[in-house]
Amino acid sequence: MLGRMPEQKNASRLGEHAIAVIGGATAGAEVAERLAEEGAFVAVFEQNPRPYGKIEDGLPRWHQELRRKEYRTIDAKLAHANVAFVPNTRIGRDVDFEALARSWGFHAVVLANGAWRDRPLPVDGADAFLGRGLVYQNPFIIWFNHAGEKAYTGPRFEAQDDAIVVGGGLASIDVAKALMLETTRAKLRERGIDETILELEVKGIPKALERHGLRFEDLGLRGCTLFYRRRPEDMPLVEMPEGAPGDRRAKVEGARKKLLDKAIEKYRFQIEPLSAPDGLVVEGNRLVGIRFRRTRMEGGKPVGTDATFERRGSYVISSIGSIPEAIPGIDMKGELFAFTDWDLGRLANYPNVFSAGNVVTGKGNIVASRKHASHVAEKVIESFLGVGEAGHAGEEAIFDAPREAARKLADGVAAHVATQRPHDGASLQRLRKRVAARQQAVGLADYRSWIERVTPPDLE
Ligand SMILES: Cc1cc2nc3c(=O)[nH]c(=O)nc-3n(C[C@H](O)[C@H](O)[C@H](O)COP(=O)(O)OP(=O)(O)OC[C@H]3O[C@@H](n4cnc5c(N)ncnc54)[C@H](O)[C@@H]3O)c2cc1C
Repeated sequence: MLGRMPEQKNASRLGEHAIAVIGGATAGAEVAERLAEEGAFVAVFEQNPRPYGKIEDGLPRWHQELRRKEYRTIDAKLAHANVAFVPNTRIGRDVDFEALARSWGFHAVVLANGAWRDRPLPVDGADAFLGRGLVYQNPFIIWFNHAGEKAYTGPRFEAQDDAIVVGGGLASIDVAKALMLETTRAKLRERGIDETILELEVKGIPKALERHGLRFEDLGLRGCTLFYRRRPEDMPLVEMPEGAPGDRRAKVEGARKKLLDKAIEKYRFQIEPLSAPDGLVVEGNRLVGIRFRRTRMEGGKPVGTDATFERRGSYVISSIGSIPEAIPGIDMKGELFAFTDWDLGRLANYPNVFSAGNVVTGKGNIVASRKHASHVAEKVIESFLGVGEAGHAGEEAIFDAPREAARKLADGVAAHVATQRPHDGASLQRLRKRVAARQQAVGLADYRSWIERVTPPDLE
């Protein structure tokens, strides 16, 4: 049905074309709106009832304003007249990916399904201790964000003092912060003092305590420790431009260290650099600690030395990155999709499939995907971490780069789709009906009323 057409001059006329987007969050919503604006019919398949992805379940809940703003942005895009939102529909489970890509009648399929699998802690046998001393970052932050909701049914954790956090990027700092804020709040409660997580985060722990005539040391907390296999100045919080000369390198390294120092001062976690997980410390059937191998940096890479040490803690939270979850029908190469073209996220077996957002960039970090990070990104990261003078002001710019990348991808998809033979009226109608049938099956009548219905009243 969908044969090739000679290239059209005007790629913006997609009125008889149809595109499927998998994932309705930052990247998916951006791509969907851009293509819908070109006139295409865009069906957005989302596995969850709500489409907000990492905004809802990855950005810790102290980013209250940012999260609300991003919810509104995504809502405006998915409520577009040419977009059909299909919630509670996991591609690879509820709808077969290969069928969607080859036989439903979509001119293109865009993977915008993010990166939701925690990269496994690289120690043999570690996963056997899941729930018995080992916790992964994604479920931990989902719990942290939703624990206060009456209807929350996911896994529950406890923020415990003296935790071991294995990591070394923004997300692992978020985990350390969440632990410090929760354990401090619990200690204050024991003294009859009520501070919210939001207040503690904005003021910082020492300042918040000062108001009550307390010092951090008075609380009797050991604090959590972030174990990182490189040096603080290697932590990729600020981008190192490729081929940067020595003085520039030193500047970037200095900026990274300064950001980390500020975060430590404000949230009182500890860091143990040059430490790579190497073995498990087990007692009974519980993981009670990690054996670390001391590393040294050689040519920009951490290299194991002969020295090891054991560290015990209340539990271990592994925060070493998120990778895409496999979708049956898509080849993987190692832990990633086997893309043949990383700019457009293309796959060898599916000429009409493209990819946007964390499913392509998730392996690195925000900074790595920024073209001109330098001082601009530094300020943004500073406000994102809450350690700048103006608090979180300006942190929303953290989404500029992923959004711009999604827009570019959408333009690439539009150019490709415009070369494909459009639907005739009847075949487009059939496809629309098929999508509408799925919407009906999950109970969606229109986007706005659906969101209202599935938003917990006590969602932060
Ligand atoms: C700590 C932290 C780290 C960050 N790291 C990065 C980074 O490394 N790179 C970067 O560019 N930005 C990063 N960001 C910025 C930002 O979070 C992301 O760019 C952006 O939110 C990712 O959006 P996305 O749409 O690609 O993915 P997500 O927000 O993860 O959205 C994917 C959506 O797809 C849905 N989905 C998944 N699988 C399926 C399926 N099979 N069928 C249907 N739906 C599915 C999910 O439910 C989800 O709603 C980070 C932000 C924070 C707070």
